[in-house]
Amino acid sequence: MLTAHEAWHRLEQHLSPLAGTRVPRREAAGQVLAEAVFSTVDLPACNVSAMDGYAVAGSVTPGDRLPVVGIVAAGDPPGQTLAAGQTVRIMTGAPVPIGALTVVPVENTDAGEDEVVFHDRSTDGAHIRRGGEIVRTGERILDAGMPVTPGGLSLLASHGHASVVVHRSPRVAFVSTGNEVVPPDREPEPGQLRDSHTDFLLAATSSLGLELLPLGIASDSPDSLRPLLERGLDYDILLVSGGVSMGEFDIVEDVLAGLGCAVLFDKVAVQPGKPLVAARHPRGLVFGLPGNPASVMVCYWLFVRPTLRRLMGHHDAFWHGALNGTLVRPLPGSGTRDRFLPANVGFADGEILVQPAPPKGSHDLMAYARGSALVRVPASSRPAETGSTCQILPLADWPAQVSLDG
Ligand code: AMP
Ligand code: MG
Repeated sequence: MLTAHEAWHRLEQHLSPLAGTRVPRREAAGQVLAEAVFSTVDLPACNVSAMDGYAVAGSVTPGDRLPVVGIVAAGDPPGQTLAAGQTVRIMTGAPVPIGALTVVPVENTDAGEDEVVFHDRSTDGAHIRRGGEIVRTGERILDAGMPVTPGGLSLLASHGHASVVVHRSPRVAFVSTGNEVVPPDREPEPGQLRDSHTDFLLAATSSLGLELLPLGIASDSPDSLRPLLERGLDYDILLVSGGVSMGEFDIVEDVLAGLGCAVLFDKVAVQPGKPLVAARHPRGLVFGLPGNPASVMVCYWLFVRPTLRRLMGHHDAFWHGALNGTLVRPLPGSGTRDRFLPANVGFADGEILVQPAPPKGSHDLMAYARGSALVRVPASSRPAETGSTCQILPLADWPAQVSLDG
């Protein structure tokens, strides 16, 4: 059986960022630049004052008095001149007149009728932001491969970029399988249960800015499953839940093979989630997620999410972004597979405190649904005491802080 790292390595061979596409600036938020972006202006556009004060053509020493011959505000056109022995009142962001060597902050002066008295010795060049000192026209301001953050959007706006080229977002479809599975808004008959995976996957993918299309619930027969999977293969990523274990009705892998998919792996040494299937076909990738809710969640966070992010152009991998934390409750040990348990997480003095909530099994949706992180118990680990270090992967945009009891 492959370890999680080996499985990821196999998958990774088939992951490259999707093609670049030009989108309006504000739609680019959260996406990854496929092309670098360049400055359209010098910033600052000219020499401007960094303070409210007086622009001086020369230098001043304590007690000097100069006539105030004008006032320059932010938004005034640059190009005014200042003669030696004169000063103008100047505001933050206003263009520094030609001839001015320094700006003296208003705090270091006393204003008279038409003159000003200086209290300190001036320093040449002080409190002047030089034109182009941040960036010159044509210089690179954002690199290909950078995600468009709120700060990045603000930078794009400041240079007037109406659109940018980002990696196209993966199109994702989902097929749920199981004779027993009914939509969540239907009252289950005896023996049936409500589909919980569609809601999980819709929410989890939407937090990446992706739209997942649920294609429906197939029963455990090739005739019901095949048409839905066939439709799903038009998408960059097809997710399927259930039907990948060893049971008589676990037919997903066979039907996928019949549709021309090549299996990359169909077992991974993780608990929960061992029967995870990954397959590829000419247009994309398929994940067959084991049907138990915990397996769906764990396989999504460990394998599907980093896959989606890689297609979007982000850096990501199995267990990428994991953090060290300190156990505030004992952590059970493991067998031959890496275990991933739900945990809650708190913060104290810069430390991450981890409270594992061991589930009753991979059917224990409640335990996983209430966790804000996954804690990893590497294969063949002995139980760990309170106070020892563990590794976690956040399951939500932090802070997902809860109050820790006990
Ligand atoms: P399977 O992998 O098909 O053997 O399913 C494993 C377990 O997960 C079974 O107990 C199923 O009833 C349950 N299950 C499968 N699909 C879903 C679903 N969409 N929502 C909730 N539970 C499911
Ligand atoms: Mg099933």
